[in-house]
Amino acid sequence: MVVEPKVKGFICTTAHPRGCEESVRRQIESTKKFGRAEGPKKVLVIGSSTGYGLASRIAVTYGYGADTIGVAFERESNGKRTATAGWYNTKAFEKIAGEDGYYAKSFNGDGFSREMKDEVIQCIKEDFGKVDMVVYSMAAPRRTLPSGITVSSVLKTVGEPFTNKTLDLRTNEIKEVTVPEADEEEIKATIQVMGGGDWRDWIMSLYDAGVLADGAVTLAYSYIGPVVTHAIYKDGSIGQAKKHLYDTSVELMNKYKDIGLKAYISVNKALVTQSSAAIPIVPLYISMLYKVMKEKGLHEGCIEQMNRLFLEKLAGGVVQTDEAGRIRLDDYEMKEEIQSQIAEVWDGVDTESIKDLGDIKGYWDEFYNMFGFGYDNVGFHLGEDYCTMDFNGPITKEELKEIELEANRAVFANLKVG
Ligand code: NAD
Repeated sequence: MVVEPKVKGFICTTAHPRGCEESVRRQIESTKKFGRAEGPKKVLVIGSSTGYGLASRIAVTYGYGADTIGVAFERESNGKRTATAGWYNTKAFEKIAGEDGYYAKSFNGDGFSREMKDEVIQCIKEDFGKVDMVVYSMAAPRRTLPSGITVSSVLKTVGEPFTNKTLDLRTNEIKEVTVPEADEEEIKATIQVMGGGDWRDWIMSLYDAGVLADGAVTLAYSYIGPVVTHAIYKDGSIGQAKKHLYDTSVELMNKYKDIGLKAYISVNKALVTQSSAAIPIVPLYISMLYKVMKEKGLHEGCIEQMNRLFLEKLAGGVVQTDEAGRIRLDDYEMKEEIQSQIAEVWDGVDTESIKDLGDIKGYWDEFYNMFGFGYDNVGFHLGEDYCTMDFNGPITKEELKEIELEANRAVFANLKVG
């Protein structure tokens, strides 16, 4: 039985369980090499199965020696389709961390819901007593509000449509893309999904239940990026949600002064994750960024970023922030020498020159790795411990639509590429 990557545009509809385990193992090795620091010992990670959340969980476990509870929304295999990468990552992490003597329990379900918050709080009471760190790393396409209404986040501009270049991931060609502007409803919905509302709900619930330790730290992740991405990111609908996330950090810090809560936004580097692959223009920027940062020896993936966050920027309780109180993990990305090199060639880049100016291979390597493919020591074959069902059968249009929605954590409508 083999499992092969099946890539449709910016998603892969299959994931390899042994490859996902390899990815988790490599990230653990990276943290072990980086070193250790004094830090929280009971950590809750919301959005813990992939990308920055998974790397956070690994960094606090192997860097601080922390026990963790993880929350994620992933799909188990139904025998016809593989499970999602995040499902396999979580199983692998629990297994390895458990073998290494760490407590690692994971909850799979809707982190926005009241039920999930209650279940997790119950578990903290029984197993931890209190948590001293809460990482909020959820990236979701939609949210069912307490009222029962479901709203969707969109990746659109605010004000006017924006046309620029993008990398068409189906063909590796550079094409023009026009991103439409979001209307008021869409902006509001994006803030409801990706802003600080649910982070606040989690912290309030944990505080009210008496399970937030004195001096606890909570973190959420954001992105700023260079001018070429501002219309679609910083100043777009997602950027409005990120402003709300920042305002929430200030609000939380003020509201829970009595227990000395510290709430930070960490501004992270642009990286290939399931979320970022869906954003127009960003994959082109990322491929050029990777090229320049690798040439200068400054490239980092999720785990290298999170090692630096937890083991340097937050180590020993002295938190390094900018003037707005944000932790800047995008410090290398935003260096003048990096950005000027990209800006110089951005206007002229086309399908031919991107082969030299960008690191398309590096982009795709990381993309495949995210789904457990492309590791030299892991073939497509599954071990006997996995079932022998045919995961490679044809996929219906409806199934693909559902996978796209699950895999891409933000939604954009009717984009015309080319
Ligand atoms: P990701 O898609 O890899 O991870 C998202 C996580 O959220 C997964 O664990 C997923 O299971 C979980 N999730 C989604 N919906 C959920 C739900 N309803 N309930 C519970 N869990 C749910 O994303 P990522 O790129 O690691 O993004 C994490 C954060 O980092 C986001 O806030 C994102 O904006 C931010 N960030 C990303 C980048 C980047 O380049 N990827 C850069 C800077 C900041």
